Amino acid sequence: MSSVRVRFAPSPTGAIHIGNARTALFNWLFARQRNGHFTLRFDDTDTARSTRAFADGIERDLEWLGIEPDAMFRQSDRLAFYEAAAAKLKAAGLLYACYETPEELELRRKVLLSRRLPPVYGREALQLTDADRARLEGEGRRPHWRFLLPNFDGDPVAPRRTEIRWDDLCRGPQLVDLASLSDPVLVREDGSFLYTFTSVVDDAETGVTHIIRGEDHVTNTGVQTALFRALGAEPPAFGHHNLLTTATGEGLSKRTGALSIASLRQQGIEPMAVASLAVLTGSSENVSAARDMAELAERFDLAATSKGAAKFDPADLIALNRALLRDMPFEAAEGQLAVLGVSGPTAEPLWLAVRGNLDRVADAAVWWAVIQGNGPRDAVAADDVDFVRAAFDLLPPESSDRPWDRTTFKAWVETVKAATGRGGKALFHPLRLALTGFPAGPELADLLPLLGRAGTLARRP
Ligand code: GLU
Repeated sequence: MSSVRVRFAPSPTGAIHIGNARTALFNWLFARQRNGHFTLRFDDTDTARSTRAFADGIERDLEWLGIEPDAMFRQSDRLAFYEAAAAKLKAAGLLYACYETPEELELRRKVLLSRRLPPVYGREALQLTDADRARLEGEGRRPHWRFLLPNFDGDPVAPRRTEIRWDDLCRGPQLVDLASLSDPVLVREDGSFLYTFTSVVDDAETGVTHIIRGEDHVTNTGVQTALFRALGAEPPAFGHHNLLTTATGEGLSKRTGALSIASLRQQGIEPMAVASLAVLTGSSENVSAARDMAELAERFDLAATSKGAAKFDPADLIALNRALLRDMPFEAAEGQLAVLGVSGPTAEPLWLAVRGNLDRVADAAVWWAVIQGNGPRDAVAADDVDFVRAAFDLLPPESSDRPWDRTTFKAWVETVKAATGRGGKALFHPLRLALTGFPAGPELADLLPLLGRAGTLARRP
């Protein structure tokens, strides 16, 4: 294993969607390409919104996608680490107690905005004396704690431009000015920790070398870079990828459940269809189905991820699915087919006959029913019934030493043509309707041996 260490760090506050899968897969493929280490970390310190059920669902979704974490942990199990790191910052004077209520802060914001000033926290709490703090605590107020951003010389109330720069793995050179930001709250009134903080403690402690996440975190990177340094750690490399949006510009939300991995799985979309769309959208690669993770890893290039929007059309999932099924080996479909009741010696030839005509694996059940003699009946038009009966009377013999095979249909059709004078659509269409009950579908040459002579005759109109 190389020294590359990445992590996917979802907050288990909902089901993950295809956009979250993009982040997970970027990390997973990046690690795969470098023989690196991938950790699944649950950012679950927000106990009001995080649940174990959501975390379990995310684990299942990643497994289904084909992501196999090398390690997994929950932030809720590591509170002692955060306590220790917070104590260190407090001792250094970098984490300070604030007592403002949300209403007070909102009022200050409005005043600043009305004066056309940036609504940045003015560090008023730094002016509090010990006596002030004792009085506030006496009134029953509990502090929340802010990180003192390193954006000043000497006087914290007079911040000055302080650039944090990095060469982003996706976006190239980036810059955040710490003077434009409020000191972030790292510890809430109730003592719980915010993600901004716990993430850095863990990334530093577990030796994460590359943080790959959505571009909604670019500003965080300015703050977190300062936090890494305050904790005595070197910041890792950062890559912020563009976020997936649907063609109509609609963003994706964990809350609405739109395009969740679980719902796509339930709809019968193959994991590699989801993974291909999630990874290749908004890159320089064509969005076409990769058969497996190894192929996707070959086609994935973090640096080639465009800076623009990554718009995709959910309807493309069906096209990708069809492409995957077209040459999916029986062994890959076998489990899903068995659940549908498609099993036994005919399951494999059935699969090979129908896979080129399916939107989803589950659609194979329709053709399974057909060869079991349960296709829709009475599909043949009244005008064609005599023709079809005549054709059925010309079916070739079948015996155990000469079973029907792929050539049987052609031979039969030649005989029918010669006897009836029909050809083209006028011949094939009624035969298809008679044999399957459907106007379109897999090659009749493949279906006929599966129906067998008895099965075919049973469908004589
Ligand atoms: N829990 C954060 C999120 O879901 C993780 C962001 C990060 O990767 O640092 O957005």
